[in-house]
Amino acid sequence: MRKITLSNGKIVEVECLSCAITSGLVKPDGGVIVETQYFHAHQDVAYPIEGLVILASKRHITCLDELTDEEKNDYINILSRIRKAQREALGIEYVYYFYNEDTTHHFHTWLVPRYEWMYEFGRSVESVRPVLLHARNKMNDIYNRKKVIQAIDTLTDELN
Ligand SMILES: [Zn+2]
Repeated sequence: MRKITLSNGKIVEVECLSCAITSGLVKPDGGVIVETQYFHAHQDVAYPIEGLVILASKRHITCLDELTDEEKNDYINILSRIRKAQREALGIEYVYYFYNEDTTHHFHTWLVPRYEWMYEFGRSVESVRPVLLHARNKMNDIYNRKKVIQAIDTLTDELN
């Protein structure tokens, strides 16, 4: 078991945070954005960036090639539905997608919107890590968190 500190300061002891979230054991701040048979979308509000979405598989797997054919179809369909909702409901022009297989949690993809203010941290993908750290360390105030929750609500309405 691992001890994980949630964004609200609560500490939970779980084998895998992704399992805890996708099964409903741990409720992410802002709730579930959309859920399919095999996937679960939410935001980690510890990174208060409007429209950022984390899409996690419900099954405890690590690598992309472990997805079944049905899961692959479900994945690409929900990923593109979320992307479309980001564009149409939040006006997000560009998104960076990334997932890493050597994570301590299970298979999940980050959809990180690109905003003008991020140019301060670099032009393209090299800015992503500094942007996330900046958001976590410098933007974690009531004002930003409120905007983030509003964006989650907007996406949730758009996708359900
Ligand atoms: Zn898991």
